[in-house]
Amino acid sequence: MANPFVGIRIGAVSFVDEGTSALLDLVVDKAGVNALFLATPTWTRRSGGRQLPGYPLPDHGAQDYDPDWLGGNYATIHPEYYQRTAIGPAGRAPEHPGYDLLADVIPEASRRGMQSFAWIDESSQAAQLRRYPNFVSTMEVDIWNKPARRPCFNNPDYRNWHLAIVEDYVTNYQLDGIAWSSERLGPLTMLMQGPARQGLGLVTCFCAYCKKVAEDRHIDWRRAQEGYRKLVAWNATMASGSRLSDGGFVSFWRLVLQYPELISWHTLWTDSQHQLYRDIYGTVKAIRPEVQVGWHMSHNISFSPFFRADQDYSAISHFSDFLNVVTYHNCAGPRFHRWIENVCSALFADATPSDVYPLMAKLLGLKEAAYDQLPSAGFSADYVRRETARAVAGVEGRATIWSGIDIDVPGEVTATRTEDVIEAASGITTAEGPSEEWATCTPESVRDATLAAFAGGADGVVLGRKYSEMRLDTLAGVGMAVKTLG
Ligand SMILES: [Zn+2]
Repeated sequence: MANPFVGIRIGAVSFVDEGTSALLDLVVDKAGVNALFLATPTWTRRSGGRQLPGYPLPDHGAQDYDPDWLGGNYATIHPEYYQRTAIGPAGRAPEHPGYDLLADVIPEASRRGMQSFAWIDESSQAAQLRRYPNFVSTMEVDIWNKPARRPCFNNPDYRNWHLAIVEDYVTNYQLDGIAWSSERLGPLTMLMQGPARQGLGLVTCFCAYCKKVAEDRHIDWRRAQEGYRKLVAWNATMASGSRLSDGGFVSFWRLVLQYPELISWHTLWTDSQHQLYRDIYGTVKAIRPEVQVGWHMSHNISFSPFFRADQDYSAISHFSDFLNVVTYHNCAGPRFHRWIENVCSALFADATPSDVYPLMAKLLGLKEAAYDQLPSAGFSADYVRRETARAVAGVEGRATIWSGIDIDVPGEVTATRTEDVIEAASGITTAEGPSEEWATCTPESVRDATLAAFAGGADGVVLGRKYSEMRLDTLAGVGMAVKTLG
């Protein structure tokens, strides 16, 4: 495959620190990059800011951390697009005032024949969002009928705000695409796969808009809410280490039998997430049909059979031009290790990680190192091939698959704010810093992962999570693979 699609995720700070022209030269030289995923807006360290404080700085860019980083919109906000949302034209990032990431980079990229995407992470958990006018009025409602911790997909002010951002971007910038991310889990998946600390205000959503959707589906919201209150209590019992006389799994299943609304409410939540995807897709296409629209499929899809079932490639392909499937081979080791540990404090609390790991690996089609070795071994390149092939088969030819390649992605994320507590509840992150026992990426492992993606049928790769945490020698592993392919 000559000139394969190679995208890279880059935040505003890297262009400001390293200079646009020099940075583009560098990523072309090291990795054969021909597409840029420009992180805006973003309120999460997954895509914005410099290296995570506490983690080693890479061998380029400013040799300093930015602990006060907040994030936001790094393009120019045109207020006329934000009239149908109470949030209004809020969200300009406080960093780099006067700098417009899209206006700066797109023309320079275009001259070099590179594509430009807006890489949008809704970052629903970020503290900074709560400081925008009326944002808190878009919050979900939890099982106790109080405002919850994340915005609601069915809230018109929240929906219209995100639709306004994409309308603003697609109208005013010569973007080649929109890549959109919503890294959050619905209530049932969350409560099954790990301790959720009394629900953390995350077992949702019982707002008036969601109740209306439920009414259309003939789902009794009172029964759903009653069931979720009991399930949160069950989750807390499992997390505490107490054991129920019939066992944790049987007690869980009995609740599902008594309250089938647990499943219907969870599906309503997931469908609401995907309805926002549909609306973003249609909005972009109505303005400029040639702009590509697609979604970030988060790493949990590799670890959780429950989340995997939520995210049906075949169904999603009907409103996707591309899917950026996260197949981070290296950090998968510590992440899956933690996922197994968490599920053994929830749905599988009757068992131990050494019981559960082989079965989960079988159910998920994973063939990796022994459980205890996972954090230090990471996952193999063959994992990338298998996960890519599954996605390619899943979309049945209706969408392009770009595999996400791990370039020095931290095994887990340092918890400093609410967002990280919530991510911990999702089962893939903790409050810990880097561990010396974790596997690290090498140029060879990255080369092999890249080649494995194409062997699995990928149409391209996207290098993640963000340039500001990548070492240049690791990045060069992609260049090695591209030369082999060419
Ligand atoms: Zn709602």
